[in-house]
Amino acid sequence: MNFYVLTLFPEMIDCFTDMSILGRAKKENLITVNTINIRDFANNKHKHVDDTPYGGGAGMVMQAPPIYDSYMSIPENIRTGTKVIYLSPQGSPFTQKKAEELSKEENLILLCGHYEGIDERIIEEIVTEEISIGDFVLTGGELGASIIIDSVSRLIKGVLNKEESFTDESFSENLLEYPQYTRPYEFMGKKVPDVLISGHHANIAKWRRMESIKRTFFKRPDLLEKAELSKKEQEFLKNLKNDTNKRQEP
Ligand code: SAM
Repeated sequence: MNFYVLTLFPEMIDCFTDMSILGRAKKENLITVNTINIRDFANNKHKHVDDTPYGGGAGMVMQAPPIYDSYMSIPENIRTGTKVIYLSPQGSPFTQKKAEELSKEENLILLCGHYEGIDERIIEEIVTEEISIGDFVLTGGELGASIIIDSVSRLIKGVLNKEESFTDESFSENLLEYPQYTRPYEFMGKKVPDVLISGHHANIAKWRRMESIKRTFFKRPDLLEKAELSKKEQEFLKNLKNDTNKRQEP
């Protein structure tokens, strides 16, 4: 997977993606992260890439020509048919499902805005979709681009090793992941649940599945609407709901 990031702050992307699992994935050529500095395409002595908004108002708007030229600097064979994602608080919310969808692409172009955002005509001209990483406003798109690169890369074969595997984890089946424990066996008087040291794999799997359902019910009940549950699991959930309701009754 090759990422092309159009940004005014390439160091932010490089710094983040050079570390840890992504750094290793880069070294092993499982991913490439190509940052393109929009400022390099400024067509003026002072390298300005922003200007005041037409119609007045606060802040500065990133100008269309340098963004367009930075986009056009990507080889045509890579640009053709490749998604151009503009990180924007106005975009569709980013989800694990979206990360899975994007991980199937060969190339991705990510456009990071700054200041008050970018000239609308760039969105019309080159952007294929807008993605938001949450209902809040950041100073720039670089954090969002890094989040997309991180969550998409870890779904690419070979990026995670067996120990870091993503099967079973939160959102994989519209359920949150079960609780995890590691050594020591006892901490602050609290012992690891017996089933996890039983060595009985079927019982461990069953316990984990039920714990997943339980914590999804308590933490993210909205996810359960889309989760596929067996008859037994639906019964378990029904009992969980009844017990909780009873406990909440005055
Ligand atoms: N004036 C814009 C608005 O109200 O929609 C916000 C601009 S914001 C200060 C500057 C840049 O940060 C945006 O162009 C975008 O690239 C990025 N950004 C801010 N919030 C974001 C979010 N929630 N998700 C993704 N990108 C975001």
